[in-house]
Amino acid sequence: MVGQSWAPFAPPIARRRPAGHRLPIAREIALKILAPFAALALALSPVAAQSSPASAADITARIEAVTPKVVAWRRDIHANPELANSEVRTGRLVAAHLKRLGFEVRERVAHTGVVGVLRGGRPGPVVALRADMDALPVLEQTGLPFASRAKGRFNGAETPVAHACGHDAHVAMLMGAAEVLAGMKAQIPGTIVFIFQPAEEGPPAGERGGAPMMIEEGVLANPAPGAIFGLHVGPGAPGTIYYRAEGFMAAADTFEIKLTGKQTHGAWPAQGIDIISLSSAIVSELNTVAARTVDVTATPTVLTVATIHGGVRHNIIPEDLTMTGTLRTFDAAQRERIKARMETTVNNLAASYGAKAELTFRVAGALTYNDPALSRAAQPWLEEAAGAANVNPFSRPTTVSEDFSAYQQKIPGVFYFLGASADGVDPATSPPNHSPQFDVNEKVLPLGVRAHVLTALRWLEANPTR
Ligand SMILES: [Zn+2]
Ligand SMILES: [Zn+2]
Repeated sequence: MVGQSWAPFAPPIARRRPAGHRLPIAREIALKILAPFAALALALSPVAAQSSPASAADITARIEAVTPKVVAWRRDIHANPELANSEVRTGRLVAAHLKRLGFEVRERVAHTGVVGVLRGGRPGPVVALRADMDALPVLEQTGLPFASRAKGRFNGAETPVAHACGHDAHVAMLMGAAEVLAGMKAQIPGTIVFIFQPAEEGPPAGERGGAPMMIEEGVLANPAPGAIFGLHVGPGAPGTIYYRAEGFMAAADTFEIKLTGKQTHGAWPAQGIDIISLSSAIVSELNTVAARTVDVTATPTVLTVATIHGGVRHNIIPEDLTMTGTLRTFDAAQRERIKARMETTVNNLAASYGAKAELTFRVAGALTYNDPALSRAAQPWLEEAAGAANVNPFSRPTTVSEDFSAYQQKIPGVFYFLGASADGVDPATSPPNHSPQFDVNEKVLPLGVRAHVLTALRWLEANPTR
């Protein structure tokens, strides 16, 4: 166990000091001046509380102490990013840290995942905190001194690799929270499960991974958490937290359209079936499906065709072609309606060209659904972390998706965002996640640690086992 050097099993100061006992004057004055700051008083004293609830000042002092390490971990992980299902070095770093803290540690969960269990000194329920570990096939252009120069293989091709989604910061903040909470072990009324998950961005083609596989491999059992919390860095005023109850991040469906026509010379289109022209018609009509055929005032919907692969030469209209894209929705019924309309649109357009079309869907991410009661309960805890003025519990939904949703399908969970734009930069113009310039304002790292610590601790305190 690491942390401060006070004896964890000594009784509280007030009860321990016998009547008439005089502390050395310097310490007595210090204790008086610092009375509201229990943590500092504790730091000056060789004794501490075993069973009193965790004080805010103690938590603050512990977070300050761990912050330089959190920054160093973040930079180290940032400079050494690893793609989904390849987070070997990152996993080792996490596991070594959790073992040093005295946690029960499981490694290689869902390929490279790590799960640490901290059993508190007081009886109580189980809560889980989650961070994701994977980087992306992106060429970093942040200009940071610790910018990635790493390469990896993604779907068979060599690619640059970078932490363009901030998962480096997520890992470092949860490692920091683990250290803070380990130092307060005696005061923790229950058990905390730390989930370090691979492949949030999705496993490579042909592989499995991410949150669903972590769940299959038992991260929500033995011990079984009653709630789970997680966070994501993103554009936003530094130091702010934003989320919303119910549907927060979109359900994501990946779709693929395979078109088959009849190959011909580019100069003789009438001799074949022009699927290049068909593909462009499909793109414009699918854009119309989302914009004109569903009630856009009800819940947001985004339908994007992102790739078209077909053809090899300027003068050959190809035989076949593949298009892929993503559908983002916040409502189950609307999702089904749009999928049906896409089917009709693609098939009828193909028929009008005399081509064949095959449309397939794959669920890429379920709806990130914040449990309403837990969202309400978490608001004061997040306000304690960030300050009431810096928490927005009624944020707009966001069309990015997140596999944290898989845990929320099993147990109540709350997922929230931590604003991490650079100082003085309008979040609306700061580089978004997945862009080559995406960066995390390191000033927000202690707040992320604090939010993890407080959501876990306050939930355990609010849900005593009877
Ligand atoms: Zn991402
Ligand atoms: Zn992410």
